[in-house]
Amino acid sequence: MSSGDVRVQCPYCFQIVDLSLDPETRGVTIQDCEVCCRPWQLTVKRRKRDGKLLVRVERAQ
Ligand SMILES: [Zn+2]
Repeated sequence: MSSGDVRVQCPYCFQIVDLSLDPETRGVTIQDCEVCCRPWQLTVKRRKRDGKLLVRVERAQ
């Protein structure tokens, strides 16, 4: 696992998907699910203490 790898669960099809995010990614981005192709809204933060990526996945409106 590199620092940009995160594991998320699709809010539509509930598949577990591994993402490789650019390590500089911050804020809100839209990305399609690799499995069902529906749009995710990803909220990406980086924890200051250890640099770990924190990613929240919601259904894009
Ligand atoms: Zn999906």
